[in-house]
Amino acid sequence: MSQTVDNIKPSYPLFRDDEYKDNLHTKRANYEEMHPQEKIDEVFQWTTSKEYQELNFQREALTVNPAKACQPLGAVLCSLGFQKTLPYVHGSQGCVAYFRTYFNRHFKEPIACVSDSMTEDAAVFGGQKNMFDGLENAKALYKPEMIAVSTTCMAEVIGDDLNAFINNAKKAGHVPQEFPTPFAHTPSFVGSHTTGWDNMFEGIARFFTLNAMEDKEVGKNGKINIVPGFETYLGNYRVMHRMLDEMGVAHTMLSDPTEVLDTPADGQFRMYEGGTTQDEIKDAPNAITTFLLQPWHLEKTKKFVDQTWKHEIPKLNIPMGLEWTDEFLMKVSEVTGKPISSSLEKERGRLVDMMTDSHAWLHGKKFALWGDPDFVLGLTKFLLEVGAEPTHILCHNANKRWRKAAEKVLEESPYGTNGKVYVGNDLWHMRSLVFTDKPDFMIGNSYGKFIQRDTLYKGKEFEVPLIRIGFPIFDRHHLHRMTTLGYEGAMYMLTTIVNAVLERLDDDTRGMGTTDYNYDLVR
Ligand code: SF4
Repeated sequence: MSQTVDNIKPSYPLFRDDEYKDNLHTKRANYEEMHPQEKIDEVFQWTTSKEYQELNFQREALTVNPAKACQPLGAVLCSLGFQKTLPYVHGSQGCVAYFRTYFNRHFKEPIACVSDSMTEDAAVFGGQKNMFDGLENAKALYKPEMIAVSTTCMAEVIGDDLNAFINNAKKAGHVPQEFPTPFAHTPSFVGSHTTGWDNMFEGIARFFTLNAMEDKEVGKNGKINIVPGFETYLGNYRVMHRMLDEMGVAHTMLSDPTEVLDTPADGQFRMYEGGTTQDEIKDAPNAITTFLLQPWHLEKTKKFVDQTWKHEIPKLNIPMGLEWTDEFLMKVSEVTGKPISSSLEKERGRLVDMMTDSHAWLHGKKFALWGDPDFVLGLTKFLLEVGAEPTHILCHNANKRWRKAAEKVLEESPYGTNGKVYVGNDLWHMRSLVFTDKPDFMIGNSYGKFIQRDTLYKGKEFEVPLIRIGFPIFDRHHLHRMTTLGYEGAMYMLTTIVNAVLERLDDDTRGMGTTDYNYDLVR
């Protein structure tokens, strides 16, 4: 073998060595029963056709490459945002391994989360015993101050009752009666990770406030609440704090995992760090009102805050891009009486300046995009603001009302004329769309790289480059620390998008003596 201690090659160049190529060739020839390359190419070409697209869009009972994850994943993120809270998933161990690796690959951080490892016997007789042992062990081993319980498919299919199980565990002395154990049923066969976030938040709010409303009074603490929803850009939590601090607005971020997902390497392992405190969530009903940053996936939270806390929730869109950030800040100013700070006015002006500088490169460029409902809506709005054309707008986990809202956003701009909205579709549908009606770029999570590879296989002129904005991003580093909300977030997205356009232009124009008459130093 060609590996030696003095010359260790990583897998990519190593597997291109002749002996590995021979090995792979022999394996393929002798064991894989592979179809001839001509047949593979013929089928490949067919999957890029309009005829195939029509068949593809008739799919009903099969998802290929979903543009969403499952409910408990969202519940885990919500729980991580509370101080000294251990996310606990009642169900299969493999599911929790998936949630942990998913976040671990995205945030490049260890993720604290336990399961009570239900196996075949629990699937038949119910998982109460697992819950008894699990709660007791988790509390003893990891010393949390709260355990937030959600469920996997298996526990939901057999109908385990979390409320009864947790109460029984307390009665039997496995955990103290007063120990905080909010819970949420998070069946993965409905909704998505965003539904799971919503359910878990409602579960936590319910646990701490439902039966403790007697001494609560709207506006008593003079603060506003911010509910972020399923938010994986850590800069978005930070920019909210910064903007509100600059306006002098007292506020509480309800679920803030910024610290635990971004701990410093200083020699000390932190299983828990930062997060919303129990006192803060108990005090949340006393706020002036509650802002939901991603209202399209916070339906249950909205109902609870409205009916139990009696807050008049402002009707706003995600504060993404110029206009919707303006609306957010003006609403904050209106409900708190605090003026928008001069620092934010200046920041806004800088964003407008940047948009003006870059719009000529973005004008008329076509984009295909996907992600969670609020993100996709906000990004569509922002692309229109800079004169770009969102053409394929896909959201796997939205509903019909969202489709109407997205179509309305498109109708309000001349750049939205060619935009089409797809709800409940997956990335295999998106693959068809980018082949039959080619956009200039895709914007989405890392999974889009497979679509980019396929378009390149068809030919360089068919290639659709991927711009990575969304969740999850596994194959680039540190992007989760960036910001997509507020003026600062718009600046980041604009910078990312326009530079991808310029990078592509360089790529297209560097042919020596052929296209390099446009290979310019200044863009
Ligand atoms: S979909 Fe169900 S089985 Fe799959 S990881 Fe999620 S909870 Fe587990």
